[in-house]
Amino acid sequence: MLICKEINKTYSQKILSNFNLNVDPGEIVALLGPSGSGKSTLLKIICGLEKLDSGDIIFNGQNLENILPEKREIGMVFQKLALFPHLNVNGNIKFGLPQESNISEISIMLNLLGLKGFEKRKIQTLSGGEAQRVALARSLIAKPKMILLDEPFSSLDTDIKIILAKEVKILLKKLNIAAIYVTHDLSIANKIADRIVYLDSKK
Ligand code: ADP
Ligand code: MG
Repeated sequence: MLICKEINKTYSQKILSNFNLNVDPGEIVALLGPSGSGKSTLLKIICGLEKLDSGDIIFNGQNLENILPEKREIGMVFQKLALFPHLNVNGNIKFGLPQESNISEISIMLNLLGLKGFEKRKIQTLSGGEAQRVALARSLIAKPKMILLDEPFSSLDTDIKIILAKEVKILLKKLNIAAIYVTHDLSIANKIADRIVYLDSKK
């Protein structure tokens, strides 16, 4: 489904060197690696927020080179919250909804993520775990074929992190959405992933 072929990326130093990765439909891959090894850079390249120097990204048979991020059908959830503070929960999730889709999908998504009754809540009143559920809901409601999760729960307490990782796995399997889950926490990777891939810091 996703083929990353010989990806190279250099900023002031080489970050990714002939990096290869294949992800099957519905597969959850955990990407582990030390800080600075290029995990976030790789995800940004895959979803189109960053350019690669050389290599190819093929998604469902199509080279993504000239495809805009919003046309890629790849969702992304960041470590740092990217929710809109001036919109409530409902407004934030609606933002991810493609124009042609049905508003009732919001309540289905809220139910799936255990956020029933949260529609009118202000973002500032949410706990860290609740806020990340909203971020996930916003991303999933666009029905991506794949979702890229960049240490989405790393700022949360261990207990909540593990519960969320398990829930997200069940949800992704149910919706048949493939994922790359970036973490530096092996126990979380073991909980969520079908397969673990390591990105080392050797350049
Ligand atoms: P990770 O997510 O594995 O911690 P990153 O992909 O964020 O690593 O960063 C890898 C390296 O690339 C780091 O040394 C970081 O400082 C550098 N880097 C990331 N983004 C940029 C950028 N836009 N410009 C210059 N250097 C960058
Ligand atoms: Mg990172």
